[in-house]
Amino acid sequence: MYRIGIGYDIHKLIEGRDLIIGGIKITYGKGLLGHSDADVLIHAIIDGLLGALSLDDIGTIFPDTDPKYKDADSTILLKKVYELIKEKGYSIVNIDSNIIAQAPKIMPYIPKMKEKLVKILEISHHDLSIKAKTKEKLDSVGQNLAIESQAVVLLRRD
Ligand SMILES: [Zn+2]
Repeated sequence: MYRIGIGYDIHKLIEGRDLIIGGIKITYGKGLLGHSDADVLIHAIIDGLLGALSLDDIGTIFPDTDPKYKDADSTILLKKVYELIKEKGYSIVNIDSNIIAQAPKIMPYIPKMKEKLVKILEISHHDLSIKAKTKEKLDSVGQNLAIESQAVVLLRRD
């Protein structure tokens, strides 16, 4: 039994926040605005995992009105969601994802992100793809006002 899920997220770039993507702190003058640490890649992956099993989305499971999730480490949220997937008898076949940012350069950080995420999700490096894209200076992401991310997730139950 296979199930596929799609995840999407976007956060606004602002001054005075750390930039955390894929569980990795990226050196940059700005960070992403959000109730949690605003880790746009992890949020897209979480929504893909939840979507694959037609569960509630990330905003319903971890509401931004709940003080418990203020500045929350998204890797912990990802662990919780992965546990939920395992409880339902599923494992991850593979994940493909995009991080879309005009700046900073994301590519140098991708190996570290993969290192961190494959451990949490109990998959091999070969089963997690993270691609860095720009928006060719078009729209809010292209004007460096925001960073967005997309993820497609395939789950299997044996
Ligand atoms: Zn988010």
